[in-house]
Amino acid sequence: MALIVQKYGGTSVGSVERIKAVAARVKATVDAGHTLVVVVSAMAKETDKLVKLAHDISSNPCRREMDVLLSTGEQQTIALLSMALQALGQSAISLTGAQVGIETEPAHTRARIINIQTERLERHLKEGKVVVVAGFQGITQGLQGADLEVTTLGRGGSDTSAVALAAALKADLCEIYTDVPGVFTTDPRLVENASLLTEITCDEMLELASLGAKVLHPRAVEIARNYGVQMVVRSSWSDAPGTKVIAPGGSPRPLHNLELGRPVDGVRFDLDQAKVAMLRVADRPGIAAGLFSAMARQGVTVDLIIQSIHDGNTNDIAFTVDRPSLNQAEAVATAFSVMLHQPLKGDAAKGAAGKEDSRREGARPESARPEDTRPEDEVEVILDRDIVKVSIVGAGMIGRPGIAAQMFQVLAEAGINLQMISTSEVNVSCTIAAEHCDRALAILCKTFAVDSSPNQVSTPDPESPPVRGVALDLKQARLAILRVPDRPGMAAQIFQELAAANISVDMIIQSQRSRPIRGEMTRDIAFTVPQIDLAIAQQTLEAIAQTLDNAEVTADSDVAKVSIVGTGMLGRPGVAARLFEALAAQSINIQMIATSEIRVSCVVSKDQGADALKAAHAAFGLEDLTQRVEIPG
Ligand code: ADP
Ligand code: ASP
Ligand code: MG
Repeated sequence: MALIVQKYGGTSVGSVERIKAVAARVKATVDAGHTLVVVVSAMAKETDKLVKLAHDISSNPCRREMDVLLSTGEQQTIALLSMALQALGQSAISLTGAQVGIETEPAHTRARIINIQTERLERHLKEGKVVVVAGFQGITQGLQGADLEVTTLGRGGSDTSAVALAAALKADLCEIYTDVPGVFTTDPRLVENASLLTEITCDEMLELASLGAKVLHPRAVEIARNYGVQMVVRSSWSDAPGTKVIAPGGSPRPLHNLELGRPVDGVRFDLDQAKVAMLRVADRPGIAAGLFSAMARQGVTVDLIIQSIHDGNTNDIAFTVDRPSLNQAEAVATAFSVMLHQPLKGDAAKGAAGKEDSRREGARPESARPEDTRPEDEVEVILDRDIVKVSIVGAGMIGRPGIAAQMFQVLAEAGINLQMISTSEVNVSCTIAAEHCDRALAILCKTFAVDSSPNQVSTPDPESPPVRGVALDLKQARLAILRVPDRPGMAAQIFQELAAANISVDMIIQSQRSRPIRGEMTRDIAFTVPQIDLAIAQQTLEAIAQTLDNAEVTADSDVAKVSIVGTGMLGRPGVAARLFEALAAQSINIQMIATSEIRVSCVVSKDQGADALKAAHAAFGLEDLTQRVEIPG
């Protein structure tokens, strides 16, 4: 006797036959003694059709009217499914988001849920009815006499409706029914021998979902994690058990501000890192592979890696290592830079480390370097022992670009310069000069009203695979602003203005090379944004560039982002290297690299995206050669 929320996606209710099949499954669950709330999406392709109609009428349709229009898709399905249940003799009632009281903020087309009224739902459940609720939609709160407005949660948002309802009703289980038998190691439409996972942690699922695995809406995973909702992803075509998404058992949270609660859960710091930067490394396939494989062979654990494109021909690669490994890392980097001046031969970098005396004179702290005066083709290795990594973490940051910008802003106000920045949906990390550590932590704790704690040194679980899943995102674009003054406050200004336009930024990368322009050092900042936001992001950057001497904006939407995700990569050397090697073996050039604790992402050219995904999937032995996935429709 459990209370279950079941969610059926578009393909699962894509025809009259499918709606009847879903009704039969729902009835069988009730007959087995369970109480059911069912959330449905619009019938397959219905939402796309409505979007197209709107764009046929207007090139820039009003967001409020879009919500009124798109919410009709789900309204059709709830009525049809209720009828199908009633036809089977099962009493049922359909409710729109407004009728339930799924209260959201007034942000049309991307509203977050604030609160869910449960009184009416509970009353109908007590009457023995199955309640069929429209996913993807809500209603504003109408505070102080404001008009009530229909809202939608953003494409793919029905998953979020379902998990939010499960949290509000304290349901025993939330089942997400879709057109594949569960969560796979990668999209089975793109890689035919992807393997079905029996379980995945919320942390891993959150990264995969936000990096392009559309099987779950990332905000649904966020709610499951925050409220400890038990979730399973299954096929509505079979009785196979599907994939369990494991939520940590957290402390109970209030339901008010469901999706708007505290965005940051904690501030972390890592005092044990040092930075290595390599400037003017050739921009061709195999470079990152060679460098990080050599590091891995010497047992150097690399944490943050960032690589930015510079001037078209060469890249800067910067990374952090455990401080005790710094000498080792320096020796490898130096030997590698020497090797780069010779024709590239297979394992040339092998055995590079250990030769302490090969350390170059050019290796000195960045702060001591007066100006970039090296010949253009010479690789330079720069070390910095005196850094700390400070991070803010929390699933509440998803889709709220203002939080990272706020971090940059408060650090800038304190005169603290950001050296490396690396972001994921749930973590923003920066390296800063070690002398600023205490002040930075105090400021961040005060700003976000949380405590700070050292980064936990995690020992890898030998049982867990280093990589759980691989994702491809073809909907990102790369933007860069070149020659930005290297002073506190620049990153804050840029990302605050993008946040004000509600643009989520991923993979922020600052170049390591400083170039003097009229006596002031400058850097390049590159990042990825969703393609749909590219035009606005570009305008925003152009406006900033105009206020700066010599700054320039570049954009490229022909990019693909390939990411590997797994908690098993924590503290395991060589995982990133294996990805880079796999891409190099396919002659795929890596344009940008960014890592966070449990993921590595590479930007490559769009036409190589699918091949890069396959290569990454195979490199970590994720294939299931015993069976192939049949996808209906
Ligand atoms: P629904 O309409 O049921 O919400 P979606 O189309 O939104 O379904 O999500 C299901 C699709 O997600 C699958 O058909 C599959 O192509 C895609 N997908 C992407 N990555 C993964 C993954 N790692 N595991 C399973 N499916 C994935
Ligand atoms: N129907 C909406 C969409 O297509 C919501 C969903 O299916 O989750 O985006
Ligand atoms: Mg979906």
